[in-house]
Amino acid sequence: MPLSQEDKQLIETAGNIIGENYDSVNWLHTVGAAVRARNGKVYVGVNCDSVSHGACAEVIAIGSAITAGEREFDTIVAVLGGKTGKILPPCGNCRQMMYLYDKNMNVIVSENTKVNVLELLKYPCE
Ligand SMILES: [Zn+2]
Repeated sequence: MPLSQEDKQLIETAGNIIGENYDSVNWLHTVGAAVRARNGKVYVGVNCDSVSHGACAEVIAIGSAITAGEREFDTIVAVLGGKTGKILPPCGNCRQMMYLYDKNMNVIVSENTKVNVLELLKYPCE
């Protein structure tokens, strides 16, 4: 699917949130995510580190949206900080989480491509 103007704003929002919180030395906050709920509201997150893995930025963004009462999601994107602005396709765990929360969720995987989460997760665990 081609990206809409709202999608481009979502990429910019994800890039801005990691730009504001980027820390590659102490906490390894290196990825920002933005998710747009079906009602149009946007929620953001940055990845959080821990001794084993921590949480991806997408988990934090979706968790923030869920905490605010959202249950239906339209589109999500993750952006690498540190001046690259590179769009990152989600890891396997995030793909599964996105699928479980909203099977119709779209994922921006590059500057000009977004796909339904099922295209990224051919055989989901249910
Ligand atoms: Zn992930």
